[in-house]
Amino acid sequence: MYIGVDVGTTKITLGFVSENGEASFPSNLPMNRAQTTDSLILDLIYMIKTIAETVPLALYNFKLMGIGIGVPGLIDKNSGTLISSPNIGWKNVQLKETLERHFTVPVVVENDSAATALAELELGALQGTKNSVFINLGAGIGAGVIIDGKLYRGNKGRTTELGHTIIGENFYDCNCGKNGCLETFISTTALVNYTKKLIEEGNTTSILDQAKGDISKLDAKTVMEGAKNGDATALMAFERFIKYLGIGISNVVNTFDPELIAIGGELSQYGDFIINRLKEKIQFDNNLSNVKDTRIVKAKLVNHAGLIGAGLLCKYFAE
Ligand SMILES: [Zn+2]
Repeated sequence: MYIGVDVGTTKITLGFVSENGEASFPSNLPMNRAQTTDSLILDLIYMIKTIAETVPLALYNFKLMGIGIGVPGLIDKNSGTLISSPNIGWKNVQLKETLERHFTVPVVVENDSAATALAELELGALQGTKNSVFINLGAGIGAGVIIDGKLYRGNKGRTTELGHTIIGENFYDCNCGKNGCLETFISTTALVNYTKKLIEEGNTTSILDQAKGDISKLDAKTVMEGAKNGDATALMAFERFIKYLGIGISNVVNTFDPELIAIGGELSQYGDFIINRLKEKIQFDNNLSNVKDTRIVKAKLVNHAGLIGAGLLCKYFAE
C-alpha cells in the first residue's frame, strides 16, 4: 500500500493507493496561497502522519511501502525537488528529502500530469498502449509520455513541460515569464483571457449575461457553454483554442509518434465537443496531416486520477 499526494492549484488531495491502483480514504488539504510553503509542507506531513497512523486499522494487512507526490511544475526526479511551479508559487522545495526525514519509506516526486499519465496507463485510456501521451487541459497544460509501455521520465524530469513549449507570439506573457507558451493559448486561463480581449475589442456576446455582465467573472465553463450554444464571440475563442490545440498535438506527434493521445483535465468535461471539432480540423488542415494516424480520445479516470498516479509512482520508481 502506498500513500498518494496530488498537489493541485486549489487543494492537495491525499489518500491510500493499492498496488492495483485502487484509491481509498481520500482527504483534502486546502491550498491556502497566503500560507508559506514551509507551513503548508508541515500541514501535509501532519496529514500524512494522521492517515498513516489512524486509517490502517480499516485496511487488511496494511504496510506502507512508499509515498508518491504529483506536483504541477518542474521537478528534479533524482533529488525529488520541486524546482519551480509558477501556478502554485512554489520554488525549490525539497519534497523528497523533507518527507523522507519524517517517514521511513521512499518518497517519489513527479510532475502531476506525468503521474496522471501513469494512472491512465495502468487503469485508463492509455491501458495496453506502448507509445502514448496524456495531455492535461486545465489552468495549466501538462503532459505525460509513455514510451515502450513505461512512463518516460527524461534525464532530470523536464519531460512534461509541454505547456511551456513556445509556439507563437501571444498578447500576454505566461506565468513562467516567457511569451508564446502553448499554455497561454489552450489552458482554461487562455480561453478566458482571449474571450475577454474579444469583448473588450467590441465583439458582442450573450455569455456575459451568465457572468451577470461582469467581465471579470467570466470562466472557461461559460465560454465553452457559449461556444456549444453557437455564441459568435465564444465560438471565435473556441476556434482559436482548437487551432492551437491542433498545433500542440501536431508537435507532440512529430516528437513522439504516439499511437494514442488522451485528453484529460478540467476541460475534458467538454471532451467530445473538443475532440470532434479537432478531428474535423485534422481532416481538412494540411498543417495537421501528420496527426491523422494518431487516435485522440478522452482520458478515462475522472476521480482521483492524480492521486492514483502519485501512489503508483512508488510501485515503479521507489528507490
Ligand atoms: Zn510558460
